[in-house]
Amino acid sequence: MPLIIPDLVEALEQIAPGCVRTGVDMATVSAWRIGGPADIFVEPEGVEQVADVLRLMSQRPEPLLIIGETTNLFFDSRGFNGVLLRIGSKLSHVSIDGNRVRAQAGARVPELVRSLADAGLGGIAHAGGVPGTIGGLVLMNGGSQRKGIGTHVISVLVADSTGQLQRLDAAALGFSYRHSLLQGSDVVILDAELELEPGEPDTLVAEIEEIIASRAAKFPLDLPNGGSVFLSDPAMYEIVGPPGHAIESVGLKGLTEGGAQISPKHANFIVNNGRATDDDVLRLVATARNKVRAATGFTMDCEVRHVGTDGVLRPAHVVADERWPALDLTKG
Ligand SMILES: Cc1cc2nc3c(=O)[nH]c(=O)nc-3n(C[C@H](O)[C@H](O)[C@H](O)COP(=O)(O)OP(=O)(O)OC[C@H]3O[C@@H](n4cnc5c(N)ncnc54)[C@H](O)[C@@H]3O)c2cc1C
Repeated sequence: MPLIIPDLVEALEQIAPGCVRTGVDMATVSAWRIGGPADIFVEPEGVEQVADVLRLMSQRPEPLLIIGETTNLFFDSRGFNGVLLRIGSKLSHVSIDGNRVRAQAGARVPELVRSLADAGLGGIAHAGGVPGTIGGLVLMNGGSQRKGIGTHVISVLVADSTGQLQRLDAAALGFSYRHSLLQGSDVVILDAELELEPGEPDTLVAEIEEIIASRAAKFPLDLPNGGSVFLSDPAMYEIVGPPGHAIESVGLKGLTEGGAQISPKHANFIVNNGRATDDDVLRLVATARNKVRAATGFTMDCEVRHVGTDGVLRPAHVVADERWPALDLTKG
């Protein structure tokens, strides 16, 4: 049931003129190209606008969800009844002072890493092929090669749910592997201050290009996808191997459900062949999880998260379990 409330749209328009859209189809806008209409989509172009939106929404009953580039989540195909607050390209200014960099949260990571390398600043090449915004990356302490961006973060500017701004030092962010204390809090990351290592631009760029080429050879980047679907569990890794290997070993590589497919190139990726729904993805998740558990005794949890119609973000396996507790698409 769409909620579009004219007075809310009007109030948001007053805060961020020209930045508010209604009925935005997340199947055309999100990275995985999955979802339905989002009632209200607002993409502010300044820190004050974000703070004002938060202040307004703290007084309103409608759900609010912060998004960056949506590379780590997918939306319910029935839609989203609330307000999506996107921290994206309109908040992506980057300034450099020596080896210190201040990047607004909406800056895209691949472009940021590359432009900093061009400017002779390195240490974060591992993130050069990770899609998404720097805000999303900091929240997840993301990266590759078992490294995380947190090592280079000095501070972040955040706004709390009432729009209060605060700069937090790295020590307060509690970075650990693919985790920060910002996860699960309701703050919005507005910028990140990084300290990088000086280097020779050509060498830094070559390092990034090598990492990107090796990812392109392994991952199905030619179709919309959500990155690694399942988390790697060290105990399972020791005995069975990574999730992609486990899924392949139970014969599921290439399995198709509706518009979604377990990638024939890398079994821990689910690609959207054109018209995938959230149910298609969730049914593949349920099947992979149940078959791997039956064959190995290990239960794989998801890294990717599902956005419900009410804006609640949950790991995809939780939603899959709820919808089809024992599904195995290869049976009967
Ligand atoms: C092909 C592919 C490969 C990937 N490879 C990697 C990899 O190698 N390593 C890795 O770590 N990740 C990887 N990912 C996952 C993803 O790219 C990262 O998690 C990314 O950092 C998410 O950023 P985003 O802007 O897309 O965030 P979104 O997906 O939009 O949001 C993710 C979470 O962050 C929150 N969020 C986003 N922006 C903000 C903000 N400004 N303030 C507060 N909260 C915010 C959202 O509410 C949500 O909870 C990959 C994804 C894809 C599709």
